[in-house]
Amino acid sequence: MTTELLAVDGLETFYGKSHVLRGVSFTVRRGETTVLLGRNGAGKTTTLRSIMGLTPPRAGTVRFKGDDITGQAPHRVFHRGVGYVPEGRQIFPHLDVGENLRLGERATGDGGWTRERIFEYFPVLRERWEQRGRSLSGGEQQMLAIARALAGNPDLLMLDEPSQGLAPMLVREVQTIMARLRGEGVTILLVEQNARMALAVSDQVLVLSKGAIVFAGPTAEFHRHEQELKGRYLSV
Ligand code: ATP
Repeated sequence: MTTELLAVDGLETFYGKSHVLRGVSFTVRRGETTVLLGRNGAGKTTTLRSIMGLTPPRAGTVRFKGDDITGQAPHRVFHRGVGYVPEGRQIFPHLDVGENLRLGERATGDGGWTRERIFEYFPVLRERWEQRGRSLSGGEQQMLAIARALAGNPDLLMLDEPSQGLAPMLVREVQTIMARLRGEGVTILLVEQNARMALAVSDQVLVLSKGAIVFAGPTAEFHRHEQELKGRYLSV
């Protein structure tokens, strides 16, 4: 079996006339956590949106499990097994925790994400089961957003800045969850501003600058060039 789960090749993505992604290519291997770093506006969110079909690329291809899924509608990409936790959580504020999770469920997929297993990862969701999304704290909403994506038994889990806006203790909690998912062999594509948190849980690092990949390699290689890469391409 090929180790390659996702292969993105030559993505060119626009918002109207604004040319945001310029030839973005990379691969994500099964069982690994790939971290996508870059400054504000580098195109990280747009990369995830291009894969998900939310902002379809004008050129280039997205292959997932060997199939060309370029520009397919988001619900089809979801049904193929891509889980997506968007920036800013975007849970359903008027629905309770149980309803939010049910909307994320996907019948197929062999991830084994039963409700019990989700509760093991996120015990707070059992406690908050009948509460509306909007009454949860920011950290609880983030846990719910991750849990909802897992409820879809994804083959690939994409997360857009899950640590954003969280207190340091909760950032550590998100990091622990990421590390645990990685330990269980979940394939993850993680966008983060918080390079320190992301590097602690990554196998492969991608650095995006002005819509182009300027570094791609194993985390150890990133660390060898860390000072230069951080100085040139990251805000930290
Ligand atoms: P951030 O960390 O700020 O989310 P990012 O790396 O995720 O940054 P993107 O959100 O992908 O960056 O944005 C890339 C570029 O595209 C930015 O210049 C941004 O202003 C622009 N952009 C993003 N969304 C839109 C949109 N809906 N319409 C027009 N331009 C957009």
